[in-house]
Amino acid sequence: MRLLALETSCDETSAAVLSGTSAAPALESLVILSQDVHTVFGGVVPEIASREHLTAVVPVVERALADAKVSLADIDAIAVTHAPGLVGALLVGVSYAKALATAAGKPVIGVHHMEGHLFATVLEHADATPPFTALLVSGGHTLLLDVEAWGSYRLLGRTRDDAAGEAFDKAAKLLGLPYPGGRHLEQLARSGDPKRHRFTKPMLNAGQKPGDVDYYDVSFSGLKTAVLLATQQAVDLEAEKPHIARGFQDALIGTLVAKTIRAAKAHGRTKIVLGGGVACNGALVDAMRAEGKKIGAEVFAPTPRLATDNAAMIGAAALFRLERGERSEATLNAHSAMPIPGMTTAS
Ligand code: ATP
Ligand code: MG
Ligand code: FE
Repeated sequence: MRLLALETSCDETSAAVLSGTSAAPALESLVILSQDVHTVFGGVVPEIASREHLTAVVPVVERALADAKVSLADIDAIAVTHAPGLVGALLVGVSYAKALATAAGKPVIGVHHMEGHLFATVLEHADATPPFTALLVSGGHTLLLDVEAWGSYRLLGRTRDDAAGEAFDKAAKLLGLPYPGGRHLEQLARSGDPKRHRFTKPMLNAGQKPGDVDYYDVSFSGLKTAVLLATQQAVDLEAEKPHIARGFQDALIGTLVAKTIRAAKAHGRTKIVLGGGVACNGALVDAMRAEGKKIGAEVFAPTPRLATDNAAMIGAAALFRLERGERSEATLNAHSAMPIPGMTTAS
């Protein structure tokens, strides 16, 4: 099966061509156009994002087809992110995918964006398959999942307030870094002294055993306040910034790693799969690997291009859904919020 996949949920217009199976997906082309325009506003402006997708979607799809040296006639199905995200942005992808599918007489399949993030790693690491513990850390989500099989996701923990990427971006803003600030903060933290600001690892000791409220949940808004206070109390703020960045990053990563390891141990998992833009963070991946090793768990992380938003991961998830015989109706619509299909909550 060969498919064309589209992703327009936020500020990346992306298209990819994939072939093969969900067990062995082959990426034939991937085009990602990031909307730089939002940088000046310090955050994504939804109305502008939709307009930018409208301008970009046709050339991005054409380029992806050309790079894969195929035409629409060679495509068996069209996959598109339909939830969650900015509704106006999602609608551009959904409308275009449905129009293409109708015109070419091909099936269309709507994909959940976070299921896409979960499938990103398998594109490069054939062993990143269930069962595993998954940590999805992106701009809008922080999800700790036990993945028994593809399509069977048990939600163990989530954030009580800010998502991990959102926390990075807000802390970066307090440190005067450009938007989105995650990678800039990681860079700045490299020259920071880890002993200077030992911020409390949020919710680390909340809940003592599986089943306790907060055993797996995280919270980052307090950490953001700690960063604000540190910037206000700094005598020489410029000199202090790398140390504050390091303290913030260490505390956030410390909590994420501890909770993920707890989950892997409790469920006897020997694989940990990371996904989402924050999985670009080298310190997070290194810390997870070091702690994973202690419990005999191997850690898989996507490369940056596949960790942040892209259509390849949507295509990989779509291969699995299509193999199960799933197709979307012509009534497929965009939704700003929606649980991942197949996700149950631990109770
Ligand atoms: P969602 O997937 O929840 O809808 P999103 O699609 O906006 O949100 P992604 O594209 O997966 O999120 O990730 C973007 C986030 O990743 C941003 O918050 C960004 O700052 C963060 N990020 C990217 N690189 C790094 C890094 N090296 N360290 C920390 N955070 C990073
Ligand atoms: Mg983005
Ligand atoms: Fe995303």
